[in-house]
Amino acid sequence: MQVVSELTDTSRLCLHTITTKPWPLEIAVEKYAAAGVHGITVWRQWLEGKSLEKSRRLISDAGLQVVSLCRGGFFPSANAGKRQEAIAENLRALDEAAAIGAPWVVLVCGADPSQSLIDSRQQIFDGISACLEQAQKLGVKLAIEPLHPMYAGDRSAINTMKQANDLCELIDHPFLGVAVDVYHVWWDPDLQKEIERCGRAGRLLAFHICDWHLPVEDLLNDRGLMGEGCINIRQIRGWVEQTGFTGFNEVEIFSNRWWKTDMDEFLAAILAAYRRHS
Ligand code: ZN
Repeated sequence: MQVVSELTDTSRLCLHTITTKPWPLEIAVEKYAAAGVHGITVWRQWLEGKSLEKSRRLISDAGLQVVSLCRGGFFPSANAGKRQEAIAENLRALDEAAAIGAPWVVLVCGADPSQSLIDSRQQIFDGISACLEQAQKLGVKLAIEPLHPMYAGDRSAINTMKQANDLCELIDHPFLGVAVDVYHVWWDPDLQKEIERCGRAGRLLAFHICDWHLPVEDLLNDRGLMGEGCINIRQIRGWVEQTGFTGFNEVEIFSNRWWKTDMDEFLAAILAAYRRHS
């Protein structure tokens, strides 16, 4: 029988700021802390026009830990100039992560529909490789997040844990790892094996949770709250924890349905679902 820890408290609960999209950083921090959430993954849009130092202090003064910065990536382009811009943008993301105390930047690796996936994958390899020296200098890692194959056309040419693991092995750098998001990988028959492989290599950095809500009405913004869909989150969390992972369970939900509701009620629903279905 699989051993999986009981989530009796919220000490390992992290929320992505995009989950409560209507809330700016100040409100999100205040509400998360009041609800007993311990971690926050900051999306870069939430830092726009703000002092990074003040944002870092706002978060730490509230007793929250910055779990990740979302997101970098989007390396591929048929246009060489755009590829260079993407690398520069990722270097800026690394600077921001260092400034707010995020230990890694999550990568949505990108894909350009005007070229082959093979070309996009090569450009992802090149783009990540070009950022790692700076990553190491700043002490900030890069976390490849494989995306569900429905996004292979334009969001990511890295679609399975095996691909993410292979890419990490190929580049072989201590500042490169993987973010596992149940939404993207739950369907994969090799998931358990590839999670074990990732953990064994010391590369499993982050764990994102939500649910696969049916019918999918929007490819991007119809994720379910834990328990609303068909993902066996607890089983996958068990596999992740069996690798020795003791990090945060990060709730990342893009949902037009939920964003239309009252965010205080949504936060309460997240806390209940976290205990019951994660
Ligand atoms: Zn994710």
